[in-house]
Amino acid sequence: MAFTKLSLIEPILKALSTEGYTIPTPIQQQAIPLVLQRKDLLGCAQTGTGKTAAFAIPILQILYEQKPLAAGIKVLILTPTRELAIQIDESFAAYGRFTGIRHTVIFGGVSQQNQTNALRRGVDVLVATPGRLLDLMSQGYIHLDKLQIFVLDEADRMLDMGFIHDVKKVIAKLPAKRQTLFFSATMPPEIQKLAAVLLTHPAKVEVTPPSSTVDKIEQSLYHVGKMEKPELLLHLLGNKEIKTALVFTRTKHGADKVVKILQRHNIRAAAIHGNKSQNARQGALSDFKNGTLRVLVATDIAARGIDIDELTHVINFELPNIPETYVHRIGRTGRAGNIGTAISFCSTEERAELKDIQKLISKTIPVVHEHPFTANAHIAAPAPATRQQQSFKPRRNFNTAAGQGGNSQRRSYGAQRSR
Ligand code: AMP
Repeated sequence: MAFTKLSLIEPILKALSTEGYTIPTPIQQQAIPLVLQRKDLLGCAQTGTGKTAAFAIPILQILYEQKPLAAGIKVLILTPTRELAIQIDESFAAYGRFTGIRHTVIFGGVSQQNQTNALRRGVDVLVATPGRLLDLMSQGYIHLDKLQIFVLDEADRMLDMGFIHDVKKVIAKLPAKRQTLFFSATMPPEIQKLAAVLLTHPAKVEVTPPSSTVDKIEQSLYHVGKMEKPELLLHLLGNKEIKTALVFTRTKHGADKVVKILQRHNIRAAAIHGNKSQNARQGALSDFKNGTLRVLVATDIAARGIDIDELTHVINFELPNIPETYVHRIGRTGRAGNIGTAISFCSTEERAELKDIQKLISKTIPVVHEHPFTANAHIAAPAPATRQQQSFKPRRNFNTAAGQGGNSQRRSYGAQRSR
């Protein structure tokens, strides 16, 4: 089915063709007609499914059809992170470029001056993170009495990140008569309760990400001693096939440490996490997107919503303690029909996390036995002969690899890919 079958107006079709989009994704096919019919929507979908366009396109059309527009904010999109907020605003800019609809984005961590200037000039669509929104509302810069459409994006992340109280405060200020679009990748009980309060006879749309964990992403697992993880990472990055890698650590400090090690080995890397300034985070992200950086090391919160179409590898330097986070992390690769690779390091201390992850994805992640750092990982080896090989031989391989420009690195990687 083509976009032209969705009864979209010319300015939007023109913008979509400029973007190179011809076929709507499943969530767009389902959601666009429902939103245009002014229905409330409960969307079970995560980033990567095309959900931003699924709400941005019909919202732009609804507003365009009301032109000339009355003053005031008519649409509010609430999203948990700055990165997501910026990306959503960029989507409105892209799909709305021929509509004349005014939009702006507000988020914390930067001066409010530019944001309040934009608000004073007047906006139709406001994209916001909860904290800055409440702040500017309390200062009188934002009034939501003219609101027609409210979008709550990534509701489950709002909960994870402790924003649910702020979200509820915002909701209390919205006009009762409005259209509400509610998106969440997962539906824990608290989120179901919130959806029930917010939505009136909602239409439901549910999509699995195009690159679900089971099919398009090649997953592999390395059992490795905690102390040897940096060496294993360097070893794997010796493979030039890894063009871009998003590496996940559990802590900000851990992210900085990994970056230092990589930089010492002349690998172009940067970290993004909550302690970095907004400018540093944006800079690192765009350097990563344009290929200046090869490796981006991120904590889960900082990486939320990062959307990079060409990302080839996700490396879990440390396993997350929430198993759903594993699915979110690896879903960053394998976008847009590309093959993605997700590599996970697991130390003895992380066995419980691994067990939970495998239970959630109903799959045993294939283990790469052939690598130089198995000695301290205390693997329950399948057979004595293999065990001996794992303990000693690969380390010699690594030493050789270091001296010979990485042949065995490629061999190890090949082994990993073929599993
Ligand atoms: P989202 O799930 O909204 O974060 O979108 C994921 C990615 O898919 C973004 O990079 C979009 O630009 C892209 N995208 C969204 N819809 C389409 C489409 N119909 N055709 C091609 N790419 C799309």
